[in-house]
Amino acid sequence: MANKHAIGIDLGTTYSCVAIWEERNSRAEIIHNDQGNRTTPSFVAFTDSQRLVGDAAKNQASTNPTNTVFDAKRLIGRKYSDPVIENDLKLWPFKVVADAEDKPKIVVNYKGQENELTPEEISSMILTKMKDIAGAFLESPVTDAVVTVPAYFSHSQRKATKDAGTIAGLNVMRIINEPTAAALAYGLQKRPNCAEKRNVFVFDLGGGTLDVSLLTIKGGTYQVKATAGDTHLGGEDFDNRMVSYLAKEFKRKHKEDMNGNSKALRRLRNECEKAKRILSYNNEATIDIDALFQGIDFHSTMTRARFEKLNDDLFEKCMDTVKRCLDDARVDKNHVHDIVLVGGSSRIPKVQKLLQSFFPGKELCKSINPDEAVAYGAAVQAYMINNGHGGNDSKTLKNLVLMDVTPLSLGTSIKGDLMSVLIPRNTPIPAKKKGTYFTDSDDQPTVCVDVYEGERLRASENNMLGLFSFDVPPAPRGFPIYICFDVNEDGILSVSAEEKLTGKKQEITINNGTGRFSAKEVAKMIEEAEMLKDEDEKYKERVKAKNALDECVYKVKKAIKDGNFFSKVSAMDKQRIMAAIREAREMVNNDGVEQGETYQYKKCLMELQSVTNEIMGKINSDYEESDNGD
Ligand code: AMP
Repeated sequence: MANKHAIGIDLGTTYSCVAIWEERNSRAEIIHNDQGNRTTPSFVAFTDSQRLVGDAAKNQASTNPTNTVFDAKRLIGRKYSDPVIENDLKLWPFKVVADAEDKPKIVVNYKGQENELTPEEISSMILTKMKDIAGAFLESPVTDAVVTVPAYFSHSQRKATKDAGTIAGLNVMRIINEPTAAALAYGLQKRPNCAEKRNVFVFDLGGGTLDVSLLTIKGGTYQVKATAGDTHLGGEDFDNRMVSYLAKEFKRKHKEDMNGNSKALRRLRNECEKAKRILSYNNEATIDIDALFQGIDFHSTMTRARFEKLNDDLFEKCMDTVKRCLDDARVDKNHVHDIVLVGGSSRIPKVQKLLQSFFPGKELCKSINPDEAVAYGAAVQAYMINNGHGGNDSKTLKNLVLMDVTPLSLGTSIKGDLMSVLIPRNTPIPAKKKGTYFTDSDDQPTVCVDVYEGERLRASENNMLGLFSFDVPPAPRGFPIYICFDVNEDGILSVSAEEKLTGKKQEITINNGTGRFSAKEVAKMIEEAEMLKDEDEKYKERVKAKNALDECVYKVKKAIKDGNFFSKVSAMDKQRIMAAIREAREMVNNDGVEQGETYQYKKCLMELQSVTNEIMGKINSDYEESDNGD
């Protein structure tokens, strides 16, 4: 066994969880925090004297709301102006401002001083806490970890999460998708017929979000086919429904309105949350709160039936999301092999019942605690990486090689706005591909290396991820530039350009927020590309014909110059060849490729070639004749 420990961390929006693979028991151990809890609130608080993380931070939230930060995961890797967080910004009790680059900064008062923190820094504090929880359990410091992120996270969100790990002093060995981790926890690829493709549906209903994904597993490759979700639907909404119901009951019984009294509402909410958990295994739960409001004690009971009625529409909304995901993936529900439950709220019996009747005859995978399944899978992956994919525990973990794939093709644009794909869609990652490209003109000072993601043949129709300008030493047209695309295990793309004459190299890492798309958008882009394939193919043909003509003009002109060609031909031939070149250049210099048709470029090329071949042939035969004469 490798002597270093490697942990799995589920860095959640509301709660985080850490686990480690136990070789002895052939299972992952979920590690308790210092409060004895298996999950830790993703909360960080700042006071006059200290910084608190986890339970301690959450417990004092209502007395220190402006300095208690949560939901950092909603902000990480996003721009301040991102419409996705517009509403959240209005509702958070803590202050968020934009920096000069439109990145969000959280403003807190710590030890009497105002501090601006990035979401990465807040997340790093939670990761440090999780790392310390594991260190205390293992009685030795831990640095290696696998961290999970939602499947829909963009390049920049993944990179920012990895940065948070680095700030926390972690060596983030891999960033993996949460649904992939959950499927991995169940070892679904080891089921009978594992050689065949399995469709796995992951239903993740947590405290604040619903994320559903359809994965396919084949061999060791996990592919996210579609994701759908609701970023504001989860356990807290169910608690809120109960709170308003009981606040009304209080008003009816005691003629006092507690709305507007945040302390009373918070106490009621805490009790509702507890009651909700009880209702997952009991038909009834009691709520008893001393001096809830205006000194009045409150006592009530909540039945499971009442709870279900209060949240009926929300539960139905969950099922709409399930349907949407399957529609996007174009997979019939009868073709789903496994359904995996993730997130504390997936324990709610009514939710399970709705899922069960939607997927009749299918067993729901729920033997691993739903709020721990993601950390469990991350721990499996961490162990595998640390021990060469299975290590001593090969009986349990053999062949558990996890591979994610690139959702869209990655490439650069070449002359004529053509997309030159370096890493095709669905390539297992990590992936590294090199391509050689050539300058378009003599002494071209720079080349623009632009990076695109998408399936269209025209680069500009795809999504631009980034670009940089690369200086080229003086050289004739056709000078080679070597471009390398490198997608690492975390799905983060780096692009480098290199030239061998002076050995200059330049590299960028793509961390642009406009990067990745949701699986749904990916599917849409693929479909669009498919529909427009004929049109794109025609365009490609046109560009190829135009480029071939351009190349021929360049070569003929070069041959004329290098070979002192005109001294050897008649004035008439000179005129003929110049006219052919002029005509070809006019065609090539037309701004848009649209201006010319493929056949026109081809015809012009043939004419130019035939004139030059004829005249060059003449020179050569004159030369041979004079040679023989000698
Ligand atoms: P997660 O973000 O996955 O940790 O989920 C936390 C949410 O799950 C919170 O809203 C909890 O109230 C909820 N939850 C945890 N356990 C249960 C349970 N037994 N029944 C219903 N909801 C639960």
